[in-house]
Amino acid sequence: MKIETAVSREEFAAAYLDAVGSSQNAKDDGRLISDRFVGTAYGIYEKLIEGSKKANLTAILSPDGVAQRHILDSLIPYLFLEKREIIKDGVRIADVGCGAGFPTLPIAAFAASCGTSLSVTAIDSTAKKIRFLDSTAESLGIPGIAAVTGRAEELALPGGEYREKFDVTVARAVAPLHVLLELTAPFVKRGGFVTAYKGREDEEKDAAEISKKLGLSEPEKIAYTLPSGDARTFFIYEKTGNTPAAYPRAYAKIISEKQKTDE
Ligand code: SAH
Repeated sequence: MKIETAVSREEFAAAYLDAVGSSQNAKDDGRLISDRFVGTAYGIYEKLIEGSKKANLTAILSPDGVAQRHILDSLIPYLFLEKREIIKDGVRIADVGCGAGFPTLPIAAFAASCGTSLSVTAIDSTAKKIRFLDSTAESLGIPGIAAVTGRAEELALPGGEYREKFDVTVARAVAPLHVLLELTAPFVKRGGFVTAYKGREDEEKDAAEISKKLGLSEPEKIAYTLPSGDARTFFIYEKTGNTPAAYPRAYAKIISEKQKTDE
């Protein structure tokens, strides 16, 4: 593992401000460059560098990489959700497969810096990532985060504490869309939204059948590009029906469906 040393706040801020300034989706939003938020973004970067000396948290550790691919990439979809009034004061969000805290940390920190009160439940099956997220949120004073170690397909079972309790789920880089929807839709209340941060790939067709079974609408797809040129697609599904009690199935079952179609 390459050991990185944190650059100064000024150097990180320069990379971050450059990234925001070159993003079509972000450059006109002054809230992204408030001193308070830039300070917290630097704190997240420093914690990632420090935490990566002890555990494998993320491959992306350069100031520019963290600024673009962790902070900005987490927040551009947030701005879409805010515009659509899917994210607003009081909303309960679950981040499924949050890893070291993306998008949870930027979302919760940005909302707080804007005076929006959110609750974000960050779920991951890897305890060391959850411990990192929890201690980072606490030491940077990022409010509204509850970090939970566990597997999504177990935490979302009928009768469980997390079943159909959330207004919105977010998830980035966790699983192919058809798998991800089954891991996330059971967490969302009817009338809520299931969202997915995706790359360029078009996985929508593979997910069409399962999304109907889970009670989801046709997705809205929003394309954006990071300043580096990386193309992204953000999916928004509305949960218009109920998720039958049979979902989520055991993980082996969830992933086996695609294998069938691949044969
Ligand atoms: N969202 C983060 C992490 C992506 S890596 C980011 O964008 O940086 C994918 C993460 O999903 C890993 O940390 C892995 O532990 C978690 N994960 C995968 N399947 C899961 C499941 N079924 N339940 C809970 N977490 C899961």
